[in-house]
Amino acid sequence: CGVFGIYAPEKDVAKLTYFGLYALQHRGQESAGIATFEGKHVHLHKDMGLVSQVFNESILEDLPGNIAVGHTRYSTTGSSRKVNAQPAVVDTRLGKLALAHNGNLVNTIQLREELLKSNFNLVTSTDSEMIAYVIAEEVNAGAEWLEGSIRAFHRCQGAFSLVIGTPDGVMGVRDPNGIRPLVIGTLDSSPVRYVLASETCGLDIIGAEYLRDVEPGELVWITENGLASFPWNQQPQRKLCIFEMIYFARPDSLMHNETLYSYRMRLGRRLAEESPIEADIVFGVPDSGIPAAIGFSQTSGIAYGEGLIKNRYVGRTFIQPTQSMRETGIKMKLNPLKDVLFSKRVVIIDDSIVRGTTSRKLVKALRDAGAAEVHMRISSPPVTHPCFYGIDTDTQDQLIAATKSVAEITRQLEVDTLAYLSWEGMLVTTKEDTNSFCSACFTGDYPVPIPEQVKRSKLI
Ligand code: 5GP
Ligand code: SF4
Ligand code: MG
Repeated sequence: CGVFGIYAPEKDVAKLTYFGLYALQHRGQESAGIATFEGKHVHLHKDMGLVSQVFNESILEDLPGNIAVGHTRYSTTGSSRKVNAQPAVVDTRLGKLALAHNGNLVNTIQLREELLKSNFNLVTSTDSEMIAYVIAEEVNAGAEWLEGSIRAFHRCQGAFSLVIGTPDGVMGVRDPNGIRPLVIGTLDSSPVRYVLASETCGLDIIGAEYLRDVEPGELVWITENGLASFPWNQQPQRKLCIFEMIYFARPDSLMHNETLYSYRMRLGRRLAEESPIEADIVFGVPDSGIPAAIGFSQTSGIAYGEGLIKNRYVGRTFIQPTQSMRETGIKMKLNPLKDVLFSKRVVIIDDSIVRGTTSRKLVKALRDAGAAEVHMRISSPPVTHPCFYGIDTDTQDQLIAATKSVAEITRQLEVDTLAYLSWEGMLVTTKEDTNSFCSACFTGDYPVPIPEQVKRSKLI
């Protein structure tokens, strides 16, 4: 999901949030929503669809106020229905709160039981709404916003980057491992106004300047007095999702002080070193495979070209909830360039293979277009385990590498050769401490323990 938040009394906060969400659209395409605060009064609009489908000028004009919280949803828990759209707005002793969540909690079964005891009416099924109710429970028991929220966060386990609007200010929060990203930007200089967004591309679009990340285990509280930091549960070990770096976040977003484009290009260079091949042309699967393909070309000396053209108006195929939609989605999305491919030995680069459905179809399309040899190189290791922290990599039985060796996948995809980047290669290429990432979908080593019952729902 994509989350956004802003406190800016003299600005059109709904419109700024709209553009922020527009830049974060790649993080979720199922539903979108904005809540604004006009004093204690909350205005909310959310619906299924893309940001540009859910909002128009007149809807945005009906969202006045000085605080806004926005969300684009990509469903991991809870079905894809309108009631599950965010922000979730919940009433408390201190007034309403509006919560936008990116991530996934792993202790929802326990939380649901706790909430049912205190008679909370759980209308929808999302873990995100449960966080809002847990905060409400703490606040209603007598706590103030920050104290109550921090108590609530201690009850949540899993991945959560949150933006929470209240009548008094906006909170930005990350779980102690910092699994999902969240950044702070500044807008204007006097008075300084602060913006929160899942990625820096959400700041760039509104002309906000990147200040810093919200730290893992930190809460920032943005009010008329500026920004205050509350480390609520800081741990020595960070676990940013490596899949954000490899694939999920936009290439123009900054992580660890460089664009992900640069990181992904280096992954391609490393891939060429680890698994060289002789060929005539190398290209990436648009758009996510392109930076790595450029890197692969630089190191291998194989000419970089374009072998596939993408229809830019089709969303990411994996967002579609059903397998049949996913399959038609691929056909709609990519078309091979026959003149470029004919009788060539090609290297096709992708960032990841998840189910293998995209790759199989692409290889067939390349052969139909006359490619003489098709060599596939993947700029991440085999995905063998499901994600429980908010990326929909499916259940384990759907993951092609969970049950098949690289040799078997090579045969199944009908490629001449196939190689994945090594796990070490992926991590050392980050320039950061290699222990500071979650890479559980490649190893099964989950940094936040998954309750047995939850594990059973996704593991073979
Ligand atoms: P698949 O192997 O499932 O057919 O699709 C892999 C392609 O989908 C890659 O191009 C990759 O960019 C993209 N992808 C990345 N992450 C995910 C994910 O979480 N789920 C799915 N299904 N596809 C993803
Ligand atoms: Fe990211 Fe994979 Fe960890 Fe999920 S399991 S948080 S996708 S690295
Ligand atoms: Mg892709």
